[in-house]
Amino acid sequence: MILQAENLTKHYGPVRAVDGVSLHIARGETLALVGESGCGKSTTARLVLRLIEPTGGTIRFDGEDITRLPPGRLKPFRRRTGVVFQDPYASLNPRLRVGDTILEPMQVHGLGSAAEQRARMRELLGLVGLAPFHAERYPHEFSGGQRQRIGIARALAAGPELLVCDEPVSALDVTIQAQVINLLRDLQRRLGLATLFIAHDLGVVKHLADRVAVMYLGRIVELADKRSLFANPRHPYTRALLAAIPHPDPARRGMLRPLGGDLPSAANPPPGCRFHTRCPHATEICRRNDPPLLDGIACHHHRELPAMDMAYAGALSETATRRLARYADAASARSIGAAAERDA
Ligand code: SF4
Repeated sequence: MILQAENLTKHYGPVRAVDGVSLHIARGETLALVGESGCGKSTTARLVLRLIEPTGGTIRFDGEDITRLPPGRLKPFRRRTGVVFQDPYASLNPRLRVGDTILEPMQVHGLGSAAEQRARMRELLGLVGLAPFHAERYPHEFSGGQRQRIGIARALAAGPELLVCDEPVSALDVTIQAQVINLLRDLQRRLGLATLFIAHDLGVVKHLADRVAVMYLGRIVELADKRSLFANPRHPYTRALLAAIPHPDPARRGMLRPLGGDLPSAANPPPGCRFHTRCPHATEICRRNDPPLLDGIACHHHRELPAMDMAYAGALSETATRRLARYADAASARSIGAAAERDA
């Protein structure tokens, strides 16, 4: 197991941003963490990376408890983890040339000679579909998709074993999203990376996750391997997220209604099941008792819920997959590179 987090919590005063999250990721595996904005998924990502301090719980990386390691002793952990942020522009230093941006992690960790670092930097540019001459340019000279490729190259520079991607495609338009997702999937396979992939859209993660954890108001409410989650979503919230994937057939659109209402405040979560204020199946027990996550599901009534129209759910997720695939016939980093050149 490369990463094991147990009962992680992060409280900001009365706000319980993350409230008892446990997850693990095996080497080479991709776990997707999915939920609406404000559900705590990005905070969870920052906790497992030790970018913020947990209020409670433990984090183990490759068997070592890193929860309370002082910042000065986190350097080896930093070298073995990489992170790709949502906004590729804000996460790049505008005054640094792209080559220097990618060189920086290698220099910080003292990896190889200067010549070896430059060779590795050029190799990384190629790996993400950019050309050696791009090293001399500044971030503002690139499109959004290209900037995210630069962010990925930098995240890979020190040779991480775990990559954390925090909504890496949310800021990009759908054409570019598909290219970046294909690039990430290709890199995962080639490099055997373990990945924690954060997204608010289940359609996006269908393409690259092995397992999916669905998060609501600071908690994981369903955790399953991708195939069973898409074939048989058990939690009403997971079903609502599936229903939110657009369907082109107007006759089928009304069959599953996406979720109404807003996420309640994490400072004052509803008693009992936190989802009961938006759940069409809520009963009295839901308003009183908080269901624990058992066998990958946190719902009192999941066994009694009417089966979802799986043909419809399947069509929904296939639609999302096709939508992405249509824009991305580029399945390898090489052809993505050609697409990048066209963008330029
Ligand atoms: Fe809905 Fe009750 Fe299940 Fe919560 S426990 S998701 S309110 S049915």
